[in-house]
Amino acid sequence: MQRDLFEEEHLLFRETVREFLTREVVPHHARWEKDGIVPREVWKKAGEVGMFGFAVPEEYGGAGITDFRYNAVIVEEIIAAGASGLGFSLHNDVMAPYLLGLTDDAQKARWLPGFVSGELITAIAMTEPGAGSDLQGVRTTAVREGDHYVVNGSKTFITNGINADLVVVVAKTDPDAGARGISLLVVERGMEGFTRGRNLEKIGMHAQDTAELFFDDVRVPAANLLGGQEGQGFYQLMANLPQERLSIAVAAVAAAETVLRTTIEYCRNRTAFGRSVGSFQNTRFVLAELDTEVDIARHYVDRCVRALNAGELGVVDAAKAKWWTTELQNRVIDRCLQLHGGYGYMLEYPVARAWIDSRVQTIYGGTTEIMKEIIGRSFGF
Ligand SMILES: Cc1cc2nc3c(=O)[nH]c(=O)nc-3n(C[C@H](O)[C@H](O)[C@H](O)COP(=O)(O)OP(=O)(O)OC[C@H]3O[C@@H](n4cnc5c(N)ncnc54)[C@H](O)[C@@H]3O)c2cc1C
Repeated sequence: MQRDLFEEEHLLFRETVREFLTREVVPHHARWEKDGIVPREVWKKAGEVGMFGFAVPEEYGGAGITDFRYNAVIVEEIIAAGASGLGFSLHNDVMAPYLLGLTDDAQKARWLPGFVSGELITAIAMTEPGAGSDLQGVRTTAVREGDHYVVNGSKTFITNGINADLVVVVAKTDPDAGARGISLLVVERGMEGFTRGRNLEKIGMHAQDTAELFFDDVRVPAANLLGGQEGQGFYQLMANLPQERLSIAVAAVAAAETVLRTTIEYCRNRTAFGRSVGSFQNTRFVLAELDTEVDIARHYVDRCVRALNAGELGVVDAAKAKWWTTELQNRVIDRCLQLHGGYGYMLEYPVARAWIDSRVQTIYGGTTEIMKEIIGRSFGF
């Protein structure tokens, strides 16, 4: 079915993004995969072409446009380019609502210009070695001492963890108060006692830095508390997670579509038993099933983007989008890999890289099981 999500201005922006990725990213990505990280200069170059923080008001260097379709364009183009090392969607889609919606004027002035220019790279640190799905189980503490908080604890699996300049840290300001005892604090590069651990070796997304972070008596100014009051962190996270999950769903559908298109071409050209692989009924049926599922997923996700723009995307709808599309992504890519035969197992083929890069999608941003919990709880049993 014809997609009707985008207007002329989004299509023009898509050209800009595609041109940027072709020039500045694709030729270098294999090297970054070996290095395990994307150089910071790439972030600045992306900032120069306007890829960060559209919703940031013009006085802080942004475009002042609140329209998630621009975010979706970037996500889709990064996927199409196979540039899985770029942690831009974490910065743009996940972090922007925290830095825009939960900051006072002084914080905005300190952080937003660098956020837009790509000079300040951001990360969010929720997960700990002992607490992932169960966010309320975090052990990192932030104890108020005068006009500072003293932060102690450790985080793991943090996207952009090595490159990040600003890290929104989920910490307990009142360990006995359950969900009401959690607060969000911005820890900045260079603060004494803030160190980074390993850049973790992953199955895929080899160019993306995913790291451990350690906080040892880090004195964080009280002026770095987000949202103006303690104890709101859990609710602030819950409010922003639908946008994060939608971003992941947009990526999932884009990845499934991209792999499906290349697989159809592959099956057209590859021959076995004197005929094209695509001429076997099994191949056509597999591709027909996948094409149908991806098409249907695409329209649900596009509808979610519109709902987000209208301020109407609910937690349950976002959870449905997240688990369904990411499971679909893995299924599509796995079956497409099978249709490539042995070549599908070779890393020089995009389907092989898509396979290893996609596996994490059902895990981060809330696992499939947690998404089903959210949906199931809505029945009120
Ligand atoms: C590459 C990568 C990047 C990441 N980036 C970030 C980041 O930037 N910031 C950040 O904070 N975190 C990040 N994460 C962490 C990610 O969000 C967590 O790994 C995820 O939420 C799961 O938590 P866990 O690993 O502790 O698994 P656990 O919570 O230990 O879960 C283990 C298993 O138990 C299941 N399970 C848990 N609870 C339930 C339940 N109630 N009902 C049924 N099943 C359940 C889970 O679904 C899972 O299958 C990242 C992870 C990866 C791999």
